[in-house]
Amino acid sequence: MSRVRVRFAPSPTGYVHVGNARTALFNWLFARHHGGAFVLRIEDTDVERSQEAYERQLIDDLRWLGLDWDEGPDQGGPMGPYRQSERKPIYRRYALQLIDLGRAYFCFCTPEQLETERQEALKAGRQPMYSGRCRKRPREESARQVAQGQPASIRLQIEGGPFGWDDLVHGRTSFSSDVIGDFILMRSDGNPAYNFAVVIDDHLMDITHVIRGDDHISNTPRQLAVYQALGWPPPQFAHLSTILGPDRSRLSKRHGATSLQNFREMGILPEALRNYLALLGWSPHDGVTEILSLPDLIAQFSLDRITKSPAVFDQEKLNWMNRHYLRSADLRRLARLAAPFLVQAGYLPPDKWPEDVLTWLEHLLEAVRKNISTLAEVPAAARLVFEYDAERAAHREETRDVARDPAAREVLKALISKLAALPEVTYARFREVVKAVQEETGKKGKELFHPIRVALTGAASGMELEKLIPLLEEGSKLPLTRPVKSTTERLREFAAATQLL
Ligand code: GLU
Repeated sequence: MSRVRVRFAPSPTGYVHVGNARTALFNWLFARHHGGAFVLRIEDTDVERSQEAYERQLIDDLRWLGLDWDEGPDQGGPMGPYRQSERKPIYRRYALQLIDLGRAYFCFCTPEQLETERQEALKAGRQPMYSGRCRKRPREESARQVAQGQPASIRLQIEGGPFGWDDLVHGRTSFSSDVIGDFILMRSDGNPAYNFAVVIDDHLMDITHVIRGDDHISNTPRQLAVYQALGWPPPQFAHLSTILGPDRSRLSKRHGATSLQNFREMGILPEALRNYLALLGWSPHDGVTEILSLPDLIAQFSLDRITKSPAVFDQEKLNWMNRHYLRSADLRRLARLAAPFLVQAGYLPPDKWPEDVLTWLEHLLEAVRKNISTLAEVPAAARLVFEYDAERAAHREETRDVARDPAAREVLKALISKLAALPEVTYARFREVVKAVQEETGKKGKELFHPIRVALTGAASGMELEKLIPLLEEGSKLPLTRPVKSTTERLREFAAATQLL
């Protein structure tokens, strides 16, 4: 096989969604597996819908997912430019060449004429298709009209067929030429049609394998017709199955999060999404392993393990995978990734997180990461660290027993007076104090710990005290947006709210 060259060719008309992200990932994995090249090409010939902001966003999203490309609009390469809007003269040159070869022709039909034809076909129960009216015009006459400035599109003259290929996912696929019709290569406004530009680019960029969504299957025969007319060998094609939502209809926004942007905002880790997307329609050799590192994915990826049946997107499964990666992720990295969520919750000051804050956040994440599926859940999971309301702890239904129960009051009174004698609270000292309280009051187990937990957190359950206490102590010394109350502060406030002392 000649050196593998694949491309991801998004149109910058919106956010990158699951389907496109998977296409990008499969192309990338295929290129990396074979030591080939991965090309990013921006298909922005739809001037009305394409936006530069979407291009920037998509580049950012792909990088976030961990993909890189060997050639692309941002870094160039030997076969550029990599933005279709910058390649218009190339398309025009080949379209004119096809006219010279007698394989394409100028078409002067107006939109109204075409619409009438379309309606007639529909009425007669035929598939609408261009009649080929301008095929018969003498070439010189058409050229003269164009030279005089009359607007014209350029159409391919469909001949022969059927147009078929051995799809690397779907097997032999073939379309009869009479469902195709003489389609437009160049529009009268000078822009190329997708089915033309894509062929010119894939050929000139030496693309060996076209891996894309199966919504393009019906475009492939048209593209093959262009290859044939130009006398170029087509690349190999692999069309990836549709991605469905849990209700088995085509995945769309109404199923919830579907764009990379959405997943980033939810606090899904890129490695989790990457692993999850890799399994949407592909499986490793053993067919069962689900957690695959990037080197595993690259080593194992092959087109022959792609299934042609549709893949179902399952957010729960993605969350499960994210939990897995959250547990093993580097804590400093998690601290940085979680910080924006804590800023949003009003707990952290924006942008500036000095070293001691980041170290503290690492401890915080270590304490909560077992209990969360996404980073967006960090603020809720850490709420009892940031928020403390003694009045509420004393009166809310779940915890108010502590304020009233004489045994609980006895435990807390003893605890407060012993803690007050400490110069500084550490968990080790706290344990010693609790032990002394146990000896003094004779209370143990739940009778001992329930009041302490409620007084400290206002909740009957939550993080282990072993993790909580250092977080409160260290946190209370940091410049956070909402100051963290220390162990003794909390107990003091609880005592005041319950007239304990
Ligand atoms: N611009 C097309 C799309 O975004 C590319 C299709 C292809 O890969 O050929 O769907």
